[in-house]
Amino acid sequence: MSNEIYDLTIIGAGPTGLFGAFYAGLRSLKTKIIEALPEPGGQLAVLYPEKMIYDVPGFPQVMAKDLVRELVEQTKRFDPTYVFEESVNSLRREIYEGEEYWVLNTNNDEHWTKAILISAGIGAFTPNTLPVPGISEFDGRGVFHFVQDRRPFRHRKVLIVGGGDTAVDWALNLNHWADEITLIHRRSGFRAHESSLAELRETDIEMLTHFELDAVEGKDNVERALISSNKEDEKRTLNVDIVLLSLGFKASLGPMLDWGLDLADQRHINVNGLMQTNLPGIYAAGDIATVKGSEPLSLIVTGFGQAAIAANAAHTYINPDSKLFPGHSSELRL
Ligand SMILES: Cc1cc2nc3c(=O)[nH]c(=O)nc-3n(C[C@H](O)[C@H](O)[C@H](O)COP(=O)(O)OP(=O)(O)OC[C@H]3O[C@@H](n4cnc5c(N)ncnc54)[C@H](O)[C@@H]3O)c2cc1C
Repeated sequence: MSNEIYDLTIIGAGPTGLFGAFYAGLRSLKTKIIEALPEPGGQLAVLYPEKMIYDVPGFPQVMAKDLVRELVEQTKRFDPTYVFEESVNSLRREIYEGEEYWVLNTNNDEHWTKAILISAGIGAFTPNTLPVPGISEFDGRGVFHFVQDRRPFRHRKVLIVGGGDTAVDWALNLNHWADEITLIHRRSGFRAHESSLAELRETDIEMLTHFELDAVEGKDNVERALISSNKEDEKRTLNVDIVLLSLGFKASLGPMLDWGLDLADQRHINVNGLMQTNLPGIYAAGDIATVKGSEPLSLIVTGFGQAAIAANAAHTYINPDSKLFPGHSSELRL
């Protein structure tokens, strides 16, 4: 056993996992968060970073990406370990020096822990892609599936592929930042908000409907995109540096369904009032959890409350003589 042992390992760095990490820190638990994506924030970061949220206590309104930034900032008080781009695939029980631990296996490593908080939301996200020549070859060299950082787009010629909110929002966001933007969509109707589309139509961004991507070409990096109309007999070559595929994401609980957890259905894990699952030392909170016999309430604020309960309950599991009630944060050693 070469890996450091943590008290609590949190699966998923969405709002629930982030607040869970803060609360576990408040209870002095040595905490690790494992996230499949390269960034924290879960659905807020992937599906609606630029959307306003109005139902988070203390914030009359807050943009999703700003809330994520503040949640990450809040965790830093206790300096949890973040592990990105690892997806937890399996769990096993191991005995080491007479103590029982959980071992989480990811695509890259294994992680030892006394307790687990599953805050995996609607599952691990994978971006939709296109089976088009050049896409995998130029991945990271001009082909992007989502935007983590606008800097690589500065003064570039960008082709955005997609017709939903993400495609339209990024076209607007990158306008005047990139030198040139073309947006192609395989249908005539966009699935984006009408107000965003109206804003887009006011810009110089070229919008080509009924066009599809056929190939991405270049030498070391992307230099061209070949597109064709699915309505007319028309092919075009666009000189671009970047192809951004904004085609949505698939989310799947995948391997989690086989961990021996008591499931409410294919998307939810049954928990009791303390967020305990049927497995010892494993808690679930947020979108993935259903209090047995009740209905899921998939909201950020529900996840926050459940994460606090789960972190306190995990503390009593790890330290059986401790109290569930943590005391008030102002009285704790911060
Ligand atoms: C368009 C839209 C608008 C919304 N607006 C609001 C709103 O205004 N107010 C509100 O309260 N709620 C809103 N919601 C709901 C809210 O986003 C969710 O309730 C919230 O994101 C749930 O947080 P979570 O942390 O439980 O899960 P998620 O946000 O889904 O995060 C889960 C994380 O776990 C990771 N993960 C999953 N499986 C694994 C694995 N095996 N290994 C490692 N990592 C894994 C995922 O990559 C993800 O990052 C909205 C949802 C959508 C789609």
